[in-house]
Amino acid sequence: MIKAVIFDIDNTLYSYDNAHARAFPELLLYAKEELGIPEDEFREEYSREFAAVRAMLGEAAALHNRLIRIQRILEKRGLPLTPHVLRMNELYWNILISAMEPSPHAEETVRALKKAGIRIGSGTDMTARIQFQKLERLGILDAFDFLVSSEEAGADKPAPEMFALCAEKAGVLPEECLFVGDSRKKDVLGALNAGMHAAWYCPEGEKAGKTEAPIPKEVTEGRAYMIRDLSEILRLIRE
Ligand SMILES: [Mg+2]
Repeated sequence: MIKAVIFDIDNTLYSYDNAHARAFPELLLYAKEELGIPEDEFREEYSREFAAVRAMLGEAAALHNRLIRIQRILEKRGLPLTPHVLRMNELYWNILISAMEPSPHAEETVRALKKAGIRIGSGTDMTARIQFQKLERLGILDAFDFLVSSEEAGADKPAPEMFALCAEKAGVLPEECLFVGDSRKKDVLGALNAGMHAAWYCPEGEKAGKTEAPIPKEVTEGRAYMIRDLSEILRLIRE
């Protein structure tokens, strides 16, 4: 019996891809207009610094901290850090958060689960503060009993620490948890390996051009499901 539902946030409760597509061009524009960095160069350096932080730290929350990438670009170019680093970081996140649109039926599903007495949590790769802001922006933060960020767990999904801490905070056994997320590798495989049930959120269906490998049958043992709409979770927990 499922007693807790734990949600990934990005590309699950809202479309990160769409919101990022609104915010990133504004960052490129700032870099060009205020710092004279051509767009293609900034884009390339931003990717390079992302890779450099990953090479240093592995899969950890700092990897998602845009401020560190921006800071490193400016440092290497010998550009003034103030006021630009803080301004650019805030510019990106302010636009992204204001551009967030909830996934279909996100709020009503969370509220229906809550009403049914299900514990509600989030297990999410990112620094905690931004993820709290996102849930607040989606208008559902009040329904959440707990949040585990990779900043708190010390490692990104699919690290077992993340899932263990989710189950601990939920106050139930791992097999009583359903983890919902858009990544087969991070969310589904991570949850299954931790002994949880997992719902792969794939609104466009299985042939949606996802590049991740499918989960081997022997790992799922009937604990993995594919959903195209978040409201399907209500049916899953009844079954
Ligand atoms: Mg995600």
